[in-house]
Amino acid sequence: MKVIWSFHCDYCVSWQEFHDDDWELPDDYYCPNGHELVTASKRLLSDKPIICLYPTNTYDPIKKQTSEDKNFWLMIQHIHTGEQVFSQNFYLLADALKIVENLHLLTWERALWYLQLKKI
Ligand SMILES: [Zn+2]
Repeated sequence: MKVIWSFHCDYCVSWQEFHDDDWELPDDYYCPNGHELVTASKRLLSDKPIICLYPTNTYDPIKKQTSEDKNFWLMIQHIHTGEQVFSQNFYLLADALKIVENLHLLTWERALWYLQLKKI
């Protein structure tokens, strides 16, 4: 499982780090600027999917050219297990973003169901 750690020191803004849930905070853990930590807390991440857009462009090493298509596959990734599922089709950016809009509030299971049911 992945967790998000939130840190704060007296001099810097707070920051976050993603870690496995069995990661333990070392005794000598400092902020990126070397200050002592004031607070450190962790929270379990939800099971909402990571959503990525993968450009369909290809590269021809002989011609040294990248194709000019403007499409994207959608990929959802389980935030804890890393499992990845790609869309069956590819989309122009505006259409891909509409699908992202529909996916971004769903849990992993519902997002998977949505991709498969709609044959996206
Ligand atoms: Zn600091």
